[in-house]
Amino acid sequence: MLSVEEAQRLVAQHAAPLPPRVVSLAEASGLVLAEPVAADLDSPPFDKALMDGFAVRAADLMSEGPIEFEVVEEVPAGSVPTCALGTGQVTSIMTGAPLPPGADAVVMVEHAVNFADGRVVLKGPARPGQNRLDRGREYGRGAVLLREGDVLTPARVGLLAAVGRASVRVVPRPRVAVVPTGDELVDVSSTPGPGQIRDSNSPMLRAYLAEAGADLLPASPIGRDRADALRTVLSGAFDAGADVLVLSGGVSAGQRDLVPAVLEDLGVRRVFHKVRLKPGKPLWFGVGPERTLVFGLPGNPVSGVVGTLLFVAPTIRAVRGLSEGERGPFRKEAILATPFTHRGDRPTYHPGRVVGVDAGVLRVEPLAWAGSPDLFTVTRADGFLHFPEGDREYRAGESVAWL
Ligand code: AMP
Ligand code: MG
Repeated sequence: MLSVEEAQRLVAQHAAPLPPRVVSLAEASGLVLAEPVAADLDSPPFDKALMDGFAVRAADLMSEGPIEFEVVEEVPAGSVPTCALGTGQVTSIMTGAPLPPGADAVVMVEHAVNFADGRVVLKGPARPGQNRLDRGREYGRGAVLLREGDVLTPARVGLLAAVGRASVRVVPRPRVAVVPTGDELVDVSSTPGPGQIRDSNSPMLRAYLAEAGADLLPASPIGRDRADALRTVLSGAFDAGADVLVLSGGVSAGQRDLVPAVLEDLGVRRVFHKVRLKPGKPLWFGVGPERTLVFGLPGNPVSGVVGTLLFVAPTIRAVRGLSEGERGPFRKEAILATPFTHRGDRPTYHPGRVVGVDAGVLRVEPLAWAGSPDLFTVTRADGFLHFPEGDREYRAGESVAWL
């Protein structure tokens, strides 16, 4: 059976970024840039006032003053000064307006004592450069501001607008279908009959995948455990153009676990089935019929969570164009806060809680957990402790990996 690392390598080999496309700026937030972006203008494009007040020659106001000046014109934001300043002259100026030639500082309006009849009395001293932003101070025309692979944060969307990019080349979000399977399942709005349970995996998996940046296709009907019914539901997901298809249930060893056979029938090539992992061993992964990446997650909810954190969510991030370091799975070293006995012949992910931080290292505590069906415990967890295979007593203070 494959190790988690071997399986992750196989998945990563197929998880290439989607082909870039041009989108409008309104759609670009959160996407990954597929081209470098350069400044079309200096920023600011002119020497600019940073305060409402008076543009001055600082040399005229070296002392505390107050000193009286002649006001030669008013320059609101959006207009252009016409008079250069001579000795003893100032311009009334608004935040964001260009400074007149000769001005090297702005005295804020709060330091004007008396402003009437074309004259103003100003308190000093004024420092050269005060309340003024020089042309090109942020960046010069032609400077490369963003690079391929940068994620478009809200601030970067603003920067794109500032340099006139109404549209931009990005890696699109993958379209993702989530398909629940199982004869025992009823929809969330139904009351389960004898032997039935609600389909909690679909909403949960959709939430995880949306968080990873998927563009989710509309909710799928539940696939029943018969080959013809599964074929119909899965064909629907392929026809809808899914880049990634995530199935829940039907990949274990039971007689009704028909998903692998039906997928292969539909032209999905199996890459692997089963990973040395607990919970989540029956994980199935394949590619096709076009280039759809297909994950079959076991139906027990926590198997789905662990499979998603280890395999599916990192794949979504990879096809979105995120760099290796941004894809996850996100692990760190932690310290066990309480002793723990681990028994198991497979590497195990066990829900845990952060109870403190020691010199920047998390202290974590395993929660009492009833195993892969027990989702409630996971809702009170902050992550999973990772125990290698083999029976062992762990002491408090030992180092463990934390997912
Ligand atoms: P399976 O992997 O199909 O053998 O499913 C294993 C168990 O997971 C089932 O017996 C159910 O208890 C549970 N299960 C399967 N599908 C779901 C689902 N969509 N939501 C919640 N639990 C599920
Ligand atoms: Mg099933």
